Amino acid sequence: MKEIVLLKYGELALKGANRYTFESILVKNIRRRLRDLGDFKIDKAQSTVTVTPTDDAVDMDEVFDRISRVFGIVALSRSAVIEKDMDAIISSIGYLDEALENVKTFKVNAKRADKKFPLGSPEICTQLGHHILERHPHLSVDVHNPDLVVWCEIRDKYAYLHAGQYAGAGGIPVGSGGKAALLLSGGIDSPVAGYMMAKRGLEMSAIHFASPPYTSDRALLKVKELCRKMSAYTGRVKLHVVPFTEIQQLIGENCPEEYFTIIMRRFMMEIASKIAENNNCGALVTGESLGQVASQTMQAIACTDAAATIPVLRPVIGMDKEEIVTIARKIDTFETSILPYEDCCTVFTPRHPRTKPHLADVIAAESAMERESLIEAAVRDTEIEFIDETTEFI
Ligand code: ATP
Ligand code: MG
Repeated sequence: MKEIVLLKYGELALKGANRYTFESILVKNIRRRLRDLGDFKIDKAQSTVTVTPTDDAVDMDEVFDRISRVFGIVALSRSAVIEKDMDAIISSIGYLDEALENVKTFKVNAKRADKKFPLGSPEICTQLGHHILERHPHLSVDVHNPDLVVWCEIRDKYAYLHAGQYAGAGGIPVGSGGKAALLLSGGIDSPVAGYMMAKRGLEMSAIHFASPPYTSDRALLKVKELCRKMSAYTGRVKLHVVPFTEIQQLIGENCPEEYFTIIMRRFMMEIASKIAENNNCGALVTGESLGQVASQTMQAIACTDAAATIPVLRPVIGMDKEEIVTIARKIDTFETSILPYEDCCTVFTPRHPRTKPHLADVIAAESAMERESLIEAAVRDTEIEFIDETTEFI
């Protein structure tokens, strides 16, 4: 039986004049996300998108799974495509067997977009309900609170039969809000921050600061794996790996220890701003959460913020660790994030960091360094890699 995925968009439908652009971005994103799985016909009609495989051998479980992670989709269902004929529809009810076996009550809903179809919605429901009861004697009909709703939709060319909708990823299509650069460490918080801003329509680049040999190849591999996992939601990620060893060493040699972290973070912000601007990214995104560590107090954030030249978005700023972990588990980055490899932040950690630094003192403390030329060199020597779900690491 020919099977398709039907999906409905939510907020999208509200966007008035932008609607067409949003729909095209959504369709493009779906197409990209399915590219390695086969050829698909993707059509839009009546705030529904249909994804039809041109090849029957395609793995529909995988297709469904991938689409369920595309932002901009509120609900989706798998559906049988049937000739627009009541007998054909009835003889296709075997398609629903698996879904119906696991429930006790059901009802049928019919939707007739094609008003020329010879039967009205109530008749379609009655006939289908009757045949379903005959085939599954354990079931009974409950029109008020059924375990499962069977849908029969009569559309332009075909009839569609499906059982139950699943929640989509929500949000708005990635790319419809522009681009941003995520400062991605190997920790729990930053992948979640990237996921959250992609959900609001931003296309994500990632910037990682690496300090070999203090940080290992395995630590870098972990960051790449996080990009791969994030890409299931964000789409392909352009990862920038910034060589940070020299800057960290120079901070260690030239600056007062209590300011190490804050000065390091100001370098990160300034370098990231430059890389972001070179890539047409309108904002930076970080995984900072207020009060979590010494460098995430209001005063410390004011000092790091002052080094950025574009807006810094901090989607997890008001969240507790538990709330962040819940999302990290949902998007499957948690297990990777907790792998115990060192991060550049942990390499030169001061014993007594300043928790309430003043910007003027920090600027004085970092003035012994040749900031401009160091930043320029770091941007110039940054390495780039594109990562998506299909990327394999050696
Ligand atoms: P995370 O769990 O994301 O590592 P964290 O709680 O460990 O966050 P910090 O280490 O203070 O907090 O980092 C705060 C934010 O700074 C991170 O969420 C990330 O956005 C950015 N950051 C920290 N280290 C790096 C790094 N090596 N490369 C890129 N960004 C970094
Ligand atoms: Mg960290």
